[in-house]
Amino acid sequence: MNYVHRWIDDSAIDLPVGKVVCVGRNYAAHARELGNEVPDSPILFIKPSTSLVPMAPSFSIPVDQGEVHHEIEMALLVGEKLQNCDAEDARWGMAGFGLGLDLTLRDIQNELKNKGQPWERAKAFDGACPVSGFIDSRGVSWKQSIEISLEVNGELRQRGNTTQMLFPIFQLVAEMSRVFTLEPGDIILTGTPPGVAALHPGDHFRARFGNTLKVEGQVTGR
Ligand code: ZN
Repeated sequence: MNYVHRWIDDSAIDLPVGKVVCVGRNYAAHARELGNEVPDSPILFIKPSTSLVPMAPSFSIPVDQGEVHHEIEMALLVGEKLQNCDAEDARWGMAGFGLGLDLTLRDIQNELKNKGQPWERAKAFDGACPVSGFIDSRGVSWKQSIEISLEVNGELRQRGNTTQMLFPIFQLVAEMSRVFTLEPGDIILTGTPPGVAALHPGDHFRARFGNTLKVEGQVTGR
């Protein structure tokens, strides 16, 4: 594995590479577009460290396993060990924030859901989590409202605002820490807004996080 966490200036971050803790259906409009109910408590799942790859300048997708959907999400880099924490501790325990793609083999996920089987084959495979560089969050006052978006081939596919999350960011992190101890170097993905769709080799993507971060590059096949 050659992934390391990086700051947005491309310098390496001195934190180990850990697991990725994710939430399903954290935006009501995305739950509805897939015909799912809006959950009462967050649907949590994990991608292993082997799913992490840099998002730019390019990342690759499997070409022989049905549709690979993009889910653009706000990503948080954990800086301190968090276990059973509250929202305030969660806020101060973060080292940085950026963007992640929760790549999903949608056809396979639908098959697994129909059979009542776990989602790992669809969401935890090698390369299933391209991430951007991170912005140092120490000393930054967190804004309540941050827009994230994804364009593919110049067309706006996904756009959402963190105020639309069903479980607000730090409450969500606190809830995650009651289930999984969060360790320095873990990443948290906070759920995707509506507009998920298939990616194809040759696609050009541009992802934005407010006015602070823009990541663009190319999708390749493997
Ligand atoms: Zn997701």
